Amino acid sequence: MRMKRIAAVAAAAALALGMTACGDKADEGTGAGSKSFKAGSTMERLNKAQKIKVGTKFDQPGFGLKGLSGKPEGFDVEIAKLVVKELGIPEDKIEFVETPSKVREDKIADGSVDLIAATYTIKAERKERISFAGPYYEAGQNIMVKKDDTAITGPDAFKDGAKKVCSVTGSTPAEEIKKYVKDVATQLVLFDTYDKCRDALKGGQVDAVTTDNVILLGYIAKDEASFKMAGDNFTKEPYGIGVKKDDTDFRNFINDVLEKAFQDGSWKKAWDDTAGKFGATLGNPPTIDRY
Ligand code: GLU
Repeated sequence: MRMKRIAAVAAAAALALGMTACGDKADEGTGAGSKSFKAGSTMERLNKAQKIKVGTKFDQPGFGLKGLSGKPEGFDVEIAKLVVKELGIPEDKIEFVETPSKVREDKIADGSVDLIAATYTIKAERKERISFAGPYYEAGQNIMVKKDDTAITGPDAFKDGAKKVCSVTGSTPAEEIKKYVKDVATQLVLFDTYDKCRDALKGGQVDAVTTDNVILLGYIAKDEASFKMAGDNFTKEPYGIGVKKDDTDFRNFINDVLEKAFQDGSWKKAWDDTAGKFGATLGNPPTIDRY
C-alpha cells in the first residue's frame, strides 16, 4: 500500500515536471542541461554546476538588505535572480556573498563570486580589473542629513573646512566628495559599509552621509523622523553587473537578459517590489553599453 502511494506521488510529480517542460518557453525549467550554452562558456560551467555565487550588499534597504529572512532582498538581488533564472539554476542554489564597495573588484578577480550586483557604478578605472554588463539603472550621488539640518543644501557646504561627511571606502561618492571637502583628513570619515555612516550621522559624529540617492532614500524611508535628503543629485551613477574581466560571452549573455527584462516587465516588477517603494524613480530602461 505504502509503495503504491509513493509510486503515485512520483508519477504525479513526473507529470507536473513534464508539463512544465512543455509549457511557456519563458518559464523554461532549471537543471543541468535544461538550457544549452556555448561550450566552455561561463554560462555552461554555471549551468552544469547548478549553483552560483552572487555578490551583493547586505546593508542597503531597497537594493540589498539582509533582514530576518537571512537572505538579502532588494532590486540588485532581484536583477541577479533574473540572470540566474536564465542560466537554468534554481533560486535556492544562489549563495549570496556580502561584497562591500571596496572589495568588489578583488572578489570578482579572485573568483570568490561569479557576478556582482551591488549598486556598482560602471567606471573606467574599475574596467581595468573587471568587466561590466548593463547598465540596468542610473542613480546619482546625493547627501543625507539630519531632519532638522538647514546648513547643508549641497556638496559646497563642505568647503567650510568644518562640517564632517561620511562615506564608504572604495566607493565613487567617497572620491567625488573630495572635490568639495576643504580638509579631507579631518572632514571626510570613511567606513566599510553605509549603515555605519548612517549610525554616525544619527549619533552626531558626522554632519552628513554621501552616496547614491537611492541608497540614502532607503535609509530615509526606514527612519523618516531622523533623516532627509539635502539637495539634488550631483553625479550620474550607472549601475552595472560586474563579471570577470574580458568574459565577453557572459557579459553579452547578461546584457541580453537585461534587455529582455526591460521589455517583458520583469525589470519594472523587480523595481516596484523593492526600491520603488522608497520614493526613487525608475525612469526609462537605460541603454545597454555593449562595449
Ligand atoms: N555606486 C557607487 C559605487 O559603486 C556608490 C555605491 C556603493 O558604494 O556601492 O561606488
